[in-house]
Amino acid sequence: MTDLADSATISPVADSPRQFVLGVDLDGVCADYYPFMRGVIAEWLGRDLESLPPDVGWEMTEWGIEPGEFHKVHRFAVVERHLYRDMGMIAGAGPALRRLSNLGIRIRIITHRLVIEHFHRMAVGQTVEWLDRHGIPYWDLCFMGEKGAVNADLYLEDGPHNIEALLREQRDVVVFSHAANRHLEVPAGDRARNWAEAEPLVIARFREWEERGGATGMRRRASDRSAE
Ligand SMILES: [Mg+2]
Repeated sequence: MTDLADSATISPVADSPRQFVLGVDLDGVCADYYPFMRGVIAEWLGRDLESLPPDVGWEMTEWGIEPGEFHKVHRFAVVERHLYRDMGMIAGAGPALRRLSNLGIRIRIITHRLVIEHFHRMAVGQTVEWLDRHGIPYWDLCFMGEKGAVNADLYLEDGPHNIEALLREQRDVVVFSHAANRHLEVPAGDRARNWAEAEPLVIARFREWEERGGATGMRRRASDRSAE
């Protein structure tokens, strides 16, 4: 009979070396959220698609949504138009994530999609179906707004509020460019306009992490710092 301590020791998870964790946002980074929502909102408002400018800010007020109406449109998009299942993939996201996963990087999907009460089953179900359909490799799936709490080594994020919160916590972030985050000043090496630019930035951070000794080096440096 195996006691709890033994089962913890022989657990394949416990025995695995700690991998470099890439925290990946979905909407605006992997999933092509804005073009899909543009179509839904044009339909909702009864307007021609072309009358809605492609570039919008975070609140999408440029498309004529009244303050307070967004939740209704969003619910309609998920429930009636299967937003999380049917929207497209941002070009190159799947192949890049598969290559990064093959290098030994652990993909941790972090998304704040549970924003409307009482329809989480649909939101989560559509999300999982979308991830599998596009062949996105991942081992962790986090539905939460507080992205720093899931402790990734590097974040790939487009939400301006999330980027600001992560930077306040001194997290490492590659900003995935969007009209809504262009005002944020970050070094050139911390911003990507697309996956072709994001992938080498992620690989460079991963290689630096490996050269520092990976998770072991991180622990050693933390204890060195506390001894100082
Ligand atoms: Mg996003």
